[in-house]
Amino acid sequence: MRKVFILTLVAVGGLGVGGCLMNVDQEIHLGKQAAPGFEAESGGPYPSELAQAYVARVGNTLVAELTPEERTKYEFSFTLLNSGIINAFALPGGPIFISRGLLVEMQSEDDLAGVLGHEIGHVVHRHTAYRIQRAQGFQLLLAAIGVGLQVGGGPGYVGDVSGLIVQLTDLKYGRDDESESDMSGVVYMVRAGYDPRGMISVMKILKSAGGGATPEFFSTHPDPDNRLVAISEAIGKRWPQIQAKEPVFREEPFQKMLTASLLSAGSAGGYAAYDEAERLRIQGLQAKTTQAANQLFTQAEQAYTSAIKTLPGHALPYIGRAKARWRLNRLKEALLDVDAGLAKEPDHHDGQVTRAFLRLADNNNRGALEDADHALKQVASHAYSYFYRGKALYRLRERDQGAEDLQTFLGVVNKGPDADETRQMLRALGVQVQ
Ligand SMILES: [Zn+2]
Repeated sequence: MRKVFILTLVAVGGLGVGGCLMNVDQEIHLGKQAAPGFEAESGGPYPSELAQAYVARVGNTLVAELTPEERTKYEFSFTLLNSGIINAFALPGGPIFISRGLLVEMQSEDDLAGVLGHEIGHVVHRHTAYRIQRAQGFQLLLAAIGVGLQVGGGPGYVGDVSGLIVQLTDLKYGRDDESESDMSGVVYMVRAGYDPRGMISVMKILKSAGGGATPEFFSTHPDPDNRLVAISEAIGKRWPQIQAKEPVFREEPFQKMLTASLLSAGSAGGYAAYDEAERLRIQGLQAKTTQAANQLFTQAEQAYTSAIKTLPGHALPYIGRAKARWRLNRLKEALLDVDAGLAKEPDHHDGQVTRAFLRLADNNNRGALEDADHALKQVASHAYSYFYRGKALYRLRERDQGAEDLQTFLGVVNKGPDADETRQMLRALGVQVQ
């Protein structure tokens, strides 16, 4: 279900239709629109208030040190994502994300400040805005906004422009962007009283993690090797007094936070079993024979079960086990699992979407409708939620609403069995489709 988000854009402020850079208000708006989809796609927020508050506190400590020119109107937010992939990224206008996969590799708060400082740098220097401007889709986006302007209301406001997919995560930063963000991040760190050498330890983590295991980070944040050298040199030149002293890293509170929020490997396995289960399940999806697939799904099921034991109160291991059990043709057990997961985290987006899917398979169309509706209230851009809601409505003979949802889905996903099924339903409803 990756990369199937629809971005509904409501442009604000004056529009740069002539190919100019989007303005700050547009950046903020775009970031806000895109954030729920990114969050949902990346495992959702990590379910620990303690860990979320810690990450946000470090981020906000750095933001507090920005000069008024650096800060402009940006609305920074910091979210720890429940993903084992080593990554961190910034959306235009201020939403910043870091994965638990990266957090658990760190030793100290200074490392965390290094990553967040770097991402704040991308926002301050408007790197994403410049990348979007150069990307193909942006012209389309401007055109769509342009059309909206002609049709729509007063100055500075256009109606909804849906059906546009902006794949922000695919936008790569260049080397210059990376160095600029590294250097700015280091400056924010020093201003906030962090040891800037935290940025160097982060580069080392990224470098050692780069053995082919984490292509995501490297596709968007290239060259840790060269950057490591450049950062070291810059710190030595600019702050020789810091360079001369032993590093003072804030390890203890950081490690305490990891342990208390079940993040550290020492806390009864943490997410290790879950990540292993996910790996097995994905392998199962790619297996060539049914037998090989079933074996992998069974192994995955066992790993999810041990993860459930080490992570009481977390939804993800239950939702994962539901998916494995569904593949093993055990629908009723899968439904019980996803119910248990949603009892722990009622707003878990993937949980809602998964249950909508399973309830449709179980012919519980009212229930599926409820779940898909719930999922859409959280992430209005998730294409498959429209598919599931449309299908439930179709079966419940609520034709007009159903047709609208199915058309929305087809506007994003137009190939494959789900698209074919959607076309069939739409034709049965008398809607013309290609
Ligand atoms: Zn970067």
